[in-house]
Amino acid sequence: MKPERTEAIILHTFAARERDKMVVFLTPDHGKRKGWAYGARSLKSRFGAALEPLAKVRIGYVEKEADEVVRIESVDLLRSLFPAQQQLLSSVAATYIAELVDTFAQADDPAERIYRLLDRTTEALLGGAPPIAVVAYAEVWMLRLAGIFPSTKACIECGGSLERPLRFNERQQGFVCEHCATREAELVPNDVAEALDAMARPIDQFVASAFPPNVLFELRSLAGSIRRHFLGHELKSFEVLSSVIGAS
Ligand SMILES: [Zn+2]
Repeated sequence: MKPERTEAIILHTFAARERDKMVVFLTPDHGKRKGWAYGARSLKSRFGAALEPLAKVRIGYVEKEADEVVRIESVDLLRSLFPAQQQLLSSVAATYIAELVDTFAQADDPAERIYRLLDRTTEALLGGAPPIAVVAYAEVWMLRLAGIFPSTKACIECGGSLERPLRFNERQQGFVCEHCATREAELVPNDVAEALDAMARPIDQFVASAFPPNVLFELRSLAGSIRRHFLGHELKSFEVLSSVIGAS
């Protein structure tokens, strides 16, 4: 038995047995972990409200040999998502980003950059940043960190450098140059390509650029097409997010 103490963000929890919770959390150094929080469902639980999805915590757990599920010993709340939950769109956006990260993060794989993405996007939502811009940033960056987002610098076919406008070929799942582009390649509007470039900057700067809704929409469509092609399905909370965006 090896005790660990680390910072983590709770991805989701589910009720298990009568008094317990199964907790899925992301750590910077050990990737995504799963653990039992014994007694977490009882009223006098020592875990209190620290096991809420997207709460940033300091977590202590014990790893049992040959068991991928750890035993959670202590959870101290560092940052709650509660204020963002007061606002429907921020709250749904947070749930969606948690599912996105949960889907792509691997167990036992150092996930420092993915952890930072989740940490910064959650913080941006808490700070009142426009949720759709935060979601677009998270969607593109999650694909980049997973190594799935294609290069916007080199043609996927010939390796030559890409000029504007960018052309996306869905069949090849990549950007192609003017010479390699067939009729099926879709032109990416220049303001959308600019927004993609702007994602090299930290999220607060990206959000401050205030890209218009149609640019964010196109960015999200592109990321969505790449994500669905890779996963073979859509994220569960995608429809809920779309309907809340549609109603806002
Ligand atoms: Zn080419």
